[in-house]
Amino acid sequence: MRLTVKDNLEVIQTHIRKSCAKVGRSPADIHLIGVTKYVGVERTREAIRAGVSHLGENRAPGLQAKQEGLSDNHDTVSWHFIGTLQSRKVKDVIPTVHYIHSLDRLSLAKEIHKRAEQAVNCFVQVNMSGEASKHGLPPKDVQAFLESLTPYTNVKVIGLMTMAPYTHDEEYLRDLFRRLKVLQTAMADAGYEHAPCTELSMGMSNDYQIAVEEGATYIRIGSALVGNEG
Ligand SMILES: *Cc1c(COP(=O)(O)O)cnc(C)c1O
Repeated sequence: MRLTVKDNLEVIQTHIRKSCAKVGRSPADIHLIGVTKYVGVERTREAIRAGVSHLGENRAPGLQAKQEGLSDNHDTVSWHFIGTLQSRKVKDVIPTVHYIHSLDRLSLAKEIHKRAEQAVNCFVQVNMSGEASKHGLPPKDVQAFLESLTPYTNVKVIGLMTMAPYTHDEEYLRDLFRRLKVLQTAMADAGYEHAPCTELSMGMSNDYQIAVEEGATYIRIGSALVGNEG
């Protein structure tokens, strides 16, 4: 029998509290994004009822379907676009998303700047593993990229994001998250007005406890929260 979203959420929140306690962080600093790309509107509604107030989708059609099906929850949900964003889709998602997690190129920043009426909260996606299949900038290019964004005032870089490879190698994951935290802190210390870089979007179903221990402020959880309708 499939667990309810509420049951899953309680387990996840317990894990978050434990991870926070281990390293002296406050659970209030961790924003849980329910990733609903695998499930339909009804299961997503269950997540909202359970108390999830941040929702993430990785494709524009999925985002639109959820937003239409859940339009009665308009005021209670913050929407996150977490997937690869094609420039031509920007105009479709911009009016309704609160956060974009996948900023990884200047052409995308230009398009966001052009289509947005006010500053959009963005994360710069970083490829920490070096795998060719992963999107994102190499860590060494992040600072120059942030500097190149200065003219595009509707792009506000609130932090860095990464997607770790799927592995049970805890030390590998810990090191990867730690390196992103170091980079994020350096970028925050650089003090760019358009890129405060105070946030860290990292951690998914497989690795969120490690990510929380290493400084994540936004975790993106799909299967462990809502399951997978396949
Ligand atoms: C699908 C997805 C997630 C959630 O994945 P789970 O392993 O199911 O938690 C998180 N982030 C991104 C970018 C995704 O595409």
